[in-house]
Amino acid sequence: MRTMDVVRAWGCILAGREPSMSVEITRRCPLSCPGCYAYGKNHLGTGGSLKHLREFEGDPLVEGILELVDLHRPLHLSIVGGEPLVRWREIGRLLPELELRGIHTQIVTSAVRPIPLEWKHSQRLNLVVSIDGLQPEHDKRRAPATYDRILEHIRGHAVTVHCTVTRQMTRQEGYLRDFAAFWSDRPEVRKIWMSLYTPQVGEFSKEMIPSYVRSRVINELAQLKDAFAKLELPSGLLEAYRRPPSNPDRCVFARTTQTISADLRTHVTPCQLGGRPDCRQCGCIAAAALEAVNRHRLPIGVRIGTVYRASRALGTGLGILRGIRHELPSKKQIGAPVVVSAQKPVQDAG
Ligand code: SF4
Ligand code: SF4
Repeated sequence: MRTMDVVRAWGCILAGREPSMSVEITRRCPLSCPGCYAYGKNHLGTGGSLKHLREFEGDPLVEGILELVDLHRPLHLSIVGGEPLVRWREIGRLLPELELRGIHTQIVTSAVRPIPLEWKHSQRLNLVVSIDGLQPEHDKRRAPATYDRILEHIRGHAVTVHCTVTRQMTRQEGYLRDFAAFWSDRPEVRKIWMSLYTPQVGEFSKEMIPSYVRSRVINELAQLKDAFAKLELPSGLLEAYRRPPSNPDRCVFARTTQTISADLRTHVTPCQLGGRPDCRQCGCIAAAALEAVNRHRLPIGVRIGTVYRASRALGTGLGILRGIRHELPSKKQIGAPVVVSAQKPVQDAG
């Protein structure tokens, strides 16, 4: 992060605002990945699953998102889904507007359909492509977003590859090394990020990484980062994987990011995973990266987290004094939602 961005982020916190926003731009996705948190039945708490939510398209979606960013003025906007490319036309209209507002935008996609080439002219855009394992496993888990399609659809772009390590990937020796090697060799890949699968409280699934395997994976990643320059895994981040925040209240990511779902009203809590995530097993790269910053000591010996908590308390107090209210725009303001039926997401990608 550049110094100016840090200063702006601190300004946001002191003004009682969250510097980061994440929007689930659609409920639709043509994939059915095992372990998908967005389609977990408790993703929206008592609101149920993303599959059942209303959503917008066309003008109401573009205008609704711009109203949200103008209201909350985040420095960073993450567009997630569902599959964001289902709404590629709307995103194409949003990008120049976000650029004008100086907002850094991240789109997290499966690359199941071509990524419009004009997007590469956006200065503040980070395209993140989720790729879970080597081709045989990935293609099985994430069809129709297969390796062949991804390679075709990222051509001409500069993307960040994001892999969520699951238990299945840890059974074969050298698997993560082979993954890092394959994607490091691709000229379209700028960076490689590795998350670890984060379960919900009480979950028992094949994706979960037992604690003794988790330590081995983190040690392996620590070695790989020296062998592959594109692997972005600073030691503070790996340390945060070893000791994640104990609960959402202690998670800087959860406290500095508001996630809004496809109806542009519902907040996803406590973090973008929704439901009741098991923080003690958190492997989310965004949470770990902010935790690393949080634990960093300034030259005066004080942790940045201590300064952050003081700033936040001050910002909240000032916000209350100023009567700042964090309300989302009303339905009337952003037009009528597209009403979708409560069934499996439509199998299209826009
Ligand atoms: S691509 Fe994302 S939203 Fe779609 S099923 Fe997979 S994990 Fe879920
Ligand atoms: S990002 Fe991780 S640590 Fe933070 S609230 Fe979510 S699960 Fe917990």
